[in-house]
Amino acid sequence: MGLRVLIVGGVAAGASAATRARRLDYDAEIIIFERSGHVSFANCGLPYYVGDVIQEREALLLQSPERFRDRFAVDVRLRHEVESIDRVGRRILVRNLDTGETVWEPYDRLILTPGASPIIPPFDGVDCQNVFFLRTMEDTDAFRACVDAGTVRRAVVVGAGFIGLETAEALTRRGVQVSVVELLDQVLAPLDEDMARRVAEHLRENGVSLYLGSAVSNFKAEQGIVTEVIMEDGRTLPADAVLLSIGVRPNTRLAREAGLTVGSSGGIQVDQHLRTTDPNIFAAGDAAEVVHAVTGRRVTVPLAGPANKHGRLAGEIAVAGKGASAAKVAATAIVQVFDLTVAVTGLSRKEAERAGIAAQHALVSRRHHVGYYPGAEEMLLKLVYEPGTRRVLGAQAIGGAGVDRRIDVIATAIHFGGTLDDLSNLDLAYAPQFGAAKDPVHIAAFVADNQERGLFRQVEPAAVGDLIDQGYQLVDVRHAEEFAEESIPGAVNIDVDELRARVGELDPDRPVLVLCEVGQRGYYAARILQGLGRRDVVNLSGGYVWYAVQCPDEDTQRSG
Ligand code: FAD
Repeated sequence: MGLRVLIVGGVAAGASAATRARRLDYDAEIIIFERSGHVSFANCGLPYYVGDVIQEREALLLQSPERFRDRFAVDVRLRHEVESIDRVGRRILVRNLDTGETVWEPYDRLILTPGASPIIPPFDGVDCQNVFFLRTMEDTDAFRACVDAGTVRRAVVVGAGFIGLETAEALTRRGVQVSVVELLDQVLAPLDEDMARRVAEHLRENGVSLYLGSAVSNFKAEQGIVTEVIMEDGRTLPADAVLLSIGVRPNTRLAREAGLTVGSSGGIQVDQHLRTTDPNIFAAGDAAEVVHAVTGRRVTVPLAGPANKHGRLAGEIAVAGKGASAAKVAATAIVQVFDLTVAVTGLSRKEAERAGIAAQHALVSRRHHVGYYPGAEEMLLKLVYEPGTRRVLGAQAIGGAGVDRRIDVIATAIHFGGTLDDLSNLDLAYAPQFGAAKDPVHIAAFVADNQERGLFRQVEPAAVGDLIDQGYQLVDVRHAEEFAEESIPGAVNIDVDELRARVGELDPDRPVLVLCEVGQRGYYAARILQGLGRRDVVNLSGGYVWYAVQCPDEDTQRSG
């Protein structure tokens, strides 16, 4: 008889564990217990099914129990919930949710992949029929049926994370008026606030009402239906449907009750081979801890990539007894928000600071391929690095085409412990329709390198007011027509191409703040002024475009 391998949870990590175990061990008996009615479904596609972008429900069902049986000789038991683990007797208690019957099932190896569950706040009416989560197919069927019924005119999404924003977009596309309420002052917590502001602006441009820095305190329900969402400041939002997406909690009850160690991050503690504190029990996916690629700390990262890869490895080691070490995780993620692609890897500046790592950043605005080839799309790329060591800590990108590629390149550099110099020197594929010989990744690394070498100084838009108060003269080095449209109040216009000739117009006794459209011509201007002997020159990071996003309330001057 082969090994008896039991798996708790049959979606991303569990399905990967089962199939890998089968491929490496022909004789093992492998059983997946899954408490929902579906195995191996595409949870990442759920918001798009609600939004009718994915129209066929079947497209979300990646595997069936029959396919598992025929192709992999894996026994999938749907609607079977594992209730407890008897580690001494090496068995688990399983309840058939249809019959109520319970059975003890013995194991040689147990793999825990129970995922995470949505956090449910203790509001009145949270179990009303028009309050939804998106985690299972059953959740999704109920939500979609409600939207399909045509009775949802106004919806409130609580939580502006990835799932919340994907759903906000999906509902908007279906003609629903959407409000998003978020406790933090920004959307998408993994982003720095300045980058998140651009995403918030885009959501508003697309008709989504945002309530940032706002806590929901309760719901108002009438006859089993939530009619209003009440915020702590007393404001109320009428709602025909509510999506709760305020985060997830790792499912660790089974592990905890069995005496397995659960780490301070809230996930099941595993070693580099995904073994829990019991050598016959493995854990992977949203329920388990991973090691962060930058901080080296144990964290939980509820994303499909780590769940699939670690599930696969857990399956391998469970049957083979050995295998590679689990890869560290940079928490690389990507999301579409209407016309913007937003992606992130590693640490943001605020996360680096929170982790006690000194951080600096370079912000560049570039096209995803050379401008002379039709179809180039703008991209903002923020590269976060550690001054001194020059280690790459993270990156965030917002734009259209090509955002995914740049973040993946930087994620790869982080995986290998790369520095600014590694990024500067990467040999990347180039032809006009795909990129630039100096790719946005290179440019970001060049800017960071220039900063590190003290070639120029940049300031953030928020600092502009203080610099003006300190007596800086503001020089807008764009063309006259650009300046005529809008600029920062008090700026004078000297085109960068005329700067050498007109430098005498500047007050030699006052420091200079240069600005342009996105920061590049400002850098050239700063170097010209420095070449002419000026030491007190700073450039506005991200230029006027970035200033307009960051300081929308400041008066702009129409100088034309
Ligand atoms: P899950 O996929 O949650 O599977 C765990 C399974 O275990 C569940 O089906 C559960 O029913 C079952 N289970 C739990 N306890 C028991 C028990 N006691 N007995 C039996 N069965 C049990 N990640 C990305 O990287 N990109 C995305 O675009 C993305 N989009 C997402 C969109 C949505 C709507 C959701 C919900 C998640 C998304 N994710 C995304 C996250 C990703 O889906 C998860 O990180 C991944 O599915 C985790 O895999 P897992 O196997 O650990 O857990």
